[in-house]
Amino acid sequence: TGSEARTGAGAELRLAGLGKAYGSFTAVHPLDLTVPAGSFFALLGASGCGKTTTLRMIAGLEDPTSGAVLLGDRDVTALPPHKRPVNTVFQNYALFPHLDIYENVAFGLRRRGIKSVKKQVHEMLELVELGALARRKPHQLSGGQQQRVAVARALINHPQVLLLDEPLGALDLKLRRQMQLELKRIQTEVGITFVHVTHDQEEAMTMADTVAVMNGGRVEQLGAPADLYENPASTFVANFLGQSNLIGARITGRSGEDLLLAAGDTRIALPAARCRAASAAEGTAVLAGVRPEKITISHRDDAAGIPDGRNRVAGTVADSSFTGVSTQYLVATPGGFEVSVFEQNVERDTRLVPGAEVVLHWNPAHTFGLDAAQDID
Ligand code: ATP
Repeated sequence: TGSEARTGAGAELRLAGLGKAYGSFTAVHPLDLTVPAGSFFALLGASGCGKTTTLRMIAGLEDPTSGAVLLGDRDVTALPPHKRPVNTVFQNYALFPHLDIYENVAFGLRRRGIKSVKKQVHEMLELVELGALARRKPHQLSGGQQQRVAVARALINHPQVLLLDEPLGALDLKLRRQMQLELKRIQTEVGITFVHVTHDQEEAMTMADTVAVMNGGRVEQLGAPADLYENPASTFVANFLGQSNLIGARITGRSGEDLLLAAGDTRIALPAARCRAASAAEGTAVLAGVRPEKITISHRDDAAGIPDGRNRVAGTVADSSFTGVSTQYLVATPGGFEVSVFEQNVERDTRLVPGAEVVLHWNPAHTFGLDAAQDID
């Protein structure tokens, strides 16, 4: 059942002004964030953004140059790694090759001088569904199985926080997807706070309750996956999590709850509440964002039913490609900007080809606005 493995002992993790500089280079700018007890938190970002450094400071493997790490109400900043109620799972698993799976998992208990380990080891092996492989050596397991041993070996110490540093990085895509669901299941079952570092946006979105998107040593945006996706706060987030069309426009007015924008001859409406521009004054430069899958594309001859007016752009298909899940178009517009459109369930013989004259249309509610002046990426 694995329910015995539930400790419910996840702690709240708080970073208070936690920062790291290497000489004059700031790897992590002072960072303030709170990870609720028992939640799944992901640090997401491209290589070099500072996510591993942040994780290593939480583990105690790296000394911060500023700030503190708090678990619950306890300041652990001065504690060495082994004195913190924290364990880390690394990408390379770091299993002991000469020990079998059972002994790998038992290791943490034996080191603490605990004699009767059998019940706990079996619970952990059940939790990660490796009960049948207890007597194998690590080299006799697949990558995904080795990863689960590494998780069991860390969890048996009943940490309050489990840190995972690109734990699925060595796995192929299909196994990676499987393990994401598996890790999420384990986390829900044990109730420990997980902090997961990854550069894979789909991985972070699939697993985490809260994602912090890092860029250049700063958290650029923090929120639930759907919030980040629907309301990105910067061009970096808009394009790091999926793709966005960002159309340069200016505010021309307001209509009820909507802001009205103009991009050349194209008129765009978006909910004022979804616009991050510093000012709603007429003339303010805004990047109007819309996700490629939120746009409908029609051949000009079939566009009669599309209402004239806002969020409607005529153009020419410049490129079309089939990815299996969707058909992706690049559409050139007379205004000079290009628009990506992803469409699902396209019948083979109705796919639009380059040169086709089309009309694009999307719902104002699916538009977000970014501050064009501030957001120089
Ligand atoms: P990756 O996914 O490639 O591991 P990351 O986002 O985890 O990247 P970090 O490893 O946290 O990034 O590194 C952040 C920045 O700090 C990088 O620019 C890196 O070069 C720099 N850095 C890391 N360790 C040191 C060090 N010991 N001395 C100097 N600079 C360092």
